[in-house]
Amino acid sequence: METKRRMRRPLRPQEYVPCAFCQGRGTDPFGVMSELSVCGACQGEGRLLVDVPHVPCVYCGGSGSYKTYRCPVCSGSGVVPEMDGPTVSCGECRGRGADPSSGLVCLHCHGRGRIPELSGRVR
Ligand SMILES: [Zn+2]
Ligand SMILES: [Zn+2]
Ligand SMILES: [Zn+2]
Repeated sequence: METKRRMRRPLRPQEYVPCAFCQGRGTDPFGVMSELSVCGACQGEGRLLVDVPHVPCVYCGGSGSYKTYRCPVCSGSGVVPEMDGPTVSCGECRGRGADPSSGLVCLHCHGRGRIPELSGRVR
């Protein structure tokens, strides 16, 4: 139910991208509940509103899915907002966004594979 519309202007421009999780079909790609159930990422819209500029999600490789789940990093869109400022590859996961031992989202970079340059400096 959507009664309230967001009146605030977004700080960043946004655009629609095809939902990577369901490949724009709008249905649950894995048919976990039922093959007719709507995609949980885009609510059946087949597209998702994302911030611009954006970059492909390294954690899921832009597929929007992690195993049979929605990618926890990009929420199924396959893209993530580009970071502001200079960034460096995350040393913990070597830029893959996944913890090398567990395969879960790298806590250091939150699955982005990159971190702001300043926070990557060792003091
Ligand atoms: Zn979808
Ligand atoms: Zn992702
Ligand atoms: Zn990392």
